[in-house]
Amino acid sequence: MENQTNTEMHQRKGRRLVLFPFPFQGHINPMLQLANILHSQGFSITIIHTNFNSPNPSNYPHFAFHFIPENLSESEASTTDLAVLVQLLNTKCVEPFHDCLTKLLSDVEEEPVACLISDAIFSFTKAVAENLKLPMMVLRTGGASSFVVFTAFPFLRERGYLPIQDSILEEPVVELPPLKVKDLPTINSRSPETIYELINGMVDGARASSGVIWNTFQDLEQSALANLGQQFSVPMFPIGPFHKCFPASSSSLLTQDQSCISWLEKQSPKSVIYVSFGSLAAIKENEFLEIAWGLANSKQPFLWVVRPGLTNGLEWLEPLPSGFLEMIDGRGHIVKWAPQQEVLAHPAVGAFWTHNGWNSTLESICEGVPMICMPCFTDQSVNARYVSDVWKVGLQLENGLDREKIERTIRRLMVDKEGEEIRGRILCLKEKANICLRQGGSSSESMDSLVSHILSIET
Ligand code: UDP
Repeated sequence: MENQTNTEMHQRKGRRLVLFPFPFQGHINPMLQLANILHSQGFSITIIHTNFNSPNPSNYPHFAFHFIPENLSESEASTTDLAVLVQLLNTKCVEPFHDCLTKLLSDVEEEPVACLISDAIFSFTKAVAENLKLPMMVLRTGGASSFVVFTAFPFLRERGYLPIQDSILEEPVVELPPLKVKDLPTINSRSPETIYELINGMVDGARASSGVIWNTFQDLEQSALANLGQQFSVPMFPIGPFHKCFPASSSSLLTQDQSCISWLEKQSPKSVIYVSFGSLAAIKENEFLEIAWGLANSKQPFLWVVRPGLTNGLEWLEPLPSGFLEMIDGRGHIVKWAPQQEVLAHPAVGAFWTHNGWNSTLESICEGVPMICMPCFTDQSVNARYVSDVWKVGLQLENGLDREKIERTIRRLMVDKEGEEIRGRILCLKEKANICLRQGGSSSESMDSLVSHILSIET
């Protein structure tokens, strides 16, 4: 902000940006953080959102919200087949999105729209923007390293790495070190072809956009960003980590249980393992029980987010013996949803057992909290491999879950010498994340370029 001239600020104030988040928690958070960042740069902000999974607009009185009907039936909206749900949203939103954007563009009372910023997963938006002659940029809410893998999908299929075969799970993907075959992004779906279509759509959409915005930073993903810079002719703007500029709590779809913080207040520094698998991942009942007993036997205090629906077929905590927490002397606290950013920033937290969604991974890095990685699907397995083998800031829990392995892994990370070294490395990364946002830092400079770029692509 400091090096902007008054003329530029004046010019910016007269411009509106339309942002279109994909309606999943891990996508809504970074898009609304980006909206806040761009608003602080002088742009007016309009959010187009589906009625499905909509955040609370009253937390954003400085934005204009427009809701579109995506017309999902009850069974479609509650399907556990994520690939099918993503495809349905990409089909059913076309018309209402087109209509909404057309109306916005013809509203003479409003500032002119400089550009549309769409989630990369909403790949249909490129055609709509073209049709309305509006420049479009995309926000990719995942990491750049996993995106490199997505761009390699046609090649990975050609070389027989995909679809993944159980007989070669442990083999290296020699062209994408240090990934193993089992790390390639997958998702269970009754329609595997749908997954390839969605990924191609996302990559092609980004390639054909006016630029890609990343919630990452140079020092973390330099080589992936350089790789993408060579593959794509459009500019890349790594301006993250977003949540260090604006927190995610205001876009939470579930109520964050603040009892976490008062419970953490009573724990010793760096003693607590925080456990959460994000907003979508699901586990089996036997895994749920192994996790519970692994945590109990570890003797470390734990804060565990058990989202309703986390365990297939269960409402919440049914299989736990009654009085489970008392049996272990109150060493655990279980909630349905946590104020995760605040939890990770709390001095009592010493480790994060995570599914390695990109937001959780970044949030952990930014607070210097080492990780235990248990990826479930899509890009999470790539993120986890980077955490354990590239940045070396966490340990993987792989090849099945059992209570002894859990207990051992927690000890390795929280008690043993190995854990100390890991902690040292993640504190260095935390420092780099802080530096990149300061004036002259890579994300701050990239932000300045993004603002100039947006002003230059106007039609
Ligand atoms: N989150 C939260 N409370 C929780 C668990 C998660 O606020 O109890 C937030 C977390 O801070 C992150 C987002 O939900 O910003 C989850 O995004 P991520 O990419 O990690 O995973 P996803 O939910 O998309 O699988």
